[in-house]
Amino acid sequence: MNVIIIGAGLGGLCLAQSLKRAGVGVSVFERDEAPEARRQGYRLHLDADGVAGLRAALPEDRFALFEATSMVPLRYTTILGTDFAIRRRFVTDEYSRTTHHLDAGIATHLNVDRATLREILLLGLEDVVRFGKALTHYESGEDGVTACFNDGSRVRGDLLVGADGAASAVRRQRHPQAPWMDSGARSIYGRLDLDVARRLLPPSALADVFTGAADERKLLLGVGPVIYPMRPELAAAALTPGCTLSPRQDYVGCIIAGRKEHFGDDATLRTLDSVGLQRLAARLLSGWPAPASDVVLAAQPESFFYIEMRSSIPTTFDRPTNVTLLGDAVHTMTPSLGRGANVALRDAASLGQTILTALRSGQPMADALAGYEAEMQRYGFDVVRHSADMGARLLGQDPLPDA
Ligand SMILES: Cc1cc2nc3c(=O)[nH]c(=O)nc-3n(C[C@H](O)[C@H](O)[C@H](O)COP(=O)(O)OP(=O)(O)OC[C@H]3O[C@@H](n4cnc5c(N)ncnc54)[C@H](O)[C@@H]3O)c2cc1C
Repeated sequence: MNVIIIGAGLGGLCLAQSLKRAGVGVSVFERDEAPEARRQGYRLHLDADGVAGLRAALPEDRFALFEATSMVPLRYTTILGTDFAIRRRFVTDEYSRTTHHLDAGIATHLNVDRATLREILLLGLEDVVRFGKALTHYESGEDGVTACFNDGSRVRGDLLVGADGAASAVRRQRHPQAPWMDSGARSIYGRLDLDVARRLLPPSALADVFTGAADERKLLLGVGPVIYPMRPELAAAALTPGCTLSPRQDYVGCIIAGRKEHFGDDATLRTLDSVGLQRLAARLLSGWPAPASDVVLAAQPESFFYIEMRSSIPTTFDRPTNVTLLGDAVHTMTPSLGRGANVALRDAASLGQTILTALRSGQPMADALAGYEAEMQRYGFDVVRHSADMGARLLGQDPLPDA
């Protein structure tokens, strides 16, 4: 069995880890030239789905490394007024609609640094991940599948997995009718040094999973801390000798989000550099009282980037043969609930288990994949609906057409 994975994001790498560990042939092809070639975000909230996916995939020492570099925040998501007075404090599983995790006794919340997590997921995969390889299309037949890349190269395998994110080339070919929409919401992300954040933010914002302050325009300033229990470079030296992680400092990630009309036209926004985005975000919050109005200006000037938030629209995919999908490639959502990565990691764990079970039992792979996809679309699109609902309340995101 030779599995081709397109996309070395969180979901693709998690699947590669579990297949490689079980001795299945796997190759991963990533469009970016290097892991940190593109800004993708800072703090990630992981819940029980994400943590379980990683536990299933990673060797024990790498999972220990993941735990040592993950902040265990208080389990709350807190909503403030623009004066930073606490309005509501939700248990995060109630906010993010994962109360089934509470009922099952598995509720967990971690704040992790995306780049550190990706580095951990890459450990041990150096020989199977190829960067700078963008899939253009694939050719699928009864005797296998061929991945075709932008440099003219072709790779044959038995199964191809599209883990290539929101603008998935694999999804475009596999299910060209899959609908998606502009959510109507936009966001600017940045990062504050921890000591600066301590001066400006209420103490709960440095302890909780996530804290958001919003005004009557539904403009949101959100913050989420990453305070490493062990610094990544020291944790690697102590727990996985021979492996290295890049040195990183504690920080607080920040997001300024709301309706696109507040931000101006996308074409102009795409031309702004980090400092230009910082100025725009600061201007949007300039009517707020201090210290809220000072937060953006006090952030790291080189840390800002812009995201046009898109959402998939729940649909039903045709039955798979030897091409399947996971994560944002199927169920892209706005980050309103902080669940997209968790669902991608759940998909990776479920798909890994499906492939291994089919190989061991002799079940036809297409039947096994059909079962995986039906379940993945059920829970994945449920989270898309929940995210859109929260995004509408929080940011004025447009509702899904079927809502
Ligand atoms: C700013 C921000 C904050 C977020 N915060 C949270 C959070 O707190 N919690 C949470 O659960 N989720 C969060 N999300 C959502 C989460 O990041 C995604 O849901 C998650 O990364 C999806 O994982 P994935 O593996 O499906 O896709 P990705 O992580 O997007 O990986 C896809 C990979 O495929 C590569 N690729 C694309 N096209 C090709 C091609 N043609 N050929 C080869 N490679 C290709 C891409 O370069 C990329 O590396 C956030 C998202 C953003 C943008």
